[in-house]
Amino acid sequence: MGRRKSKRKPPPKVKNIQKMAVTFNCPFCNHENSCEVKLDRQRNTGYISCGVCLEDFSTNINYLSEAIDVYSDWIDACESANN
Ligand SMILES: [Zn+2]
Repeated sequence: MGRRKSKRKPPPKVKNIQKMAVTFNCPFCNHENSCEVKLDRQRNTGYISCGVCLEDFSTNINYLSEAIDVYSDWIDACESANN
């Protein structure tokens, strides 16, 4: 017969830790999701930079800060710079 035993491969384990891509629209070049936020919890600093026009910004964060806070700080800074 020569039938092969079908070895079932176990399904790949899906890691529970999903890398959250935190991206926002760029206020400078208006590309969607081109700005990536990095939160440096040890230095209490949040960074955001646009992969398209390379504008960047950093701001102080605290333990409650989220990526969106860095982004909104950036928007605020842009708006106050325009005034
Ligand atoms: Zn940009």
